[in-house]
Amino acid sequence: MSSLDTDSIRIICPNLACQKLLAVPEMARGEVVRCRGCGSNIKVPASPSQARETIQSAQTRVSGEAAA
Ligand SMILES: [Zn+2]
Repeated sequence: MSSLDTDSIRIICPNLACQKLLAVPEMARGEVVRCRGCGSNIKVPASPSQARETIQSAQTRVSGEAAA
């Protein structure tokens, strides 16, 4: 009943100059949200598996840069 119990999901801004971690409500799945960092419109993944894939690819990119 309480909207305060709504789960949130985390997405990373696809803008390479921003990559801000955004928390959006579960109800926003499949919708487009606006990044608070750069104002880009971001499509929220409709399924948890897609969200995890996005995070993994971001982490791979970060670790690759750190290796240098
Ligand atoms: Zn952004």
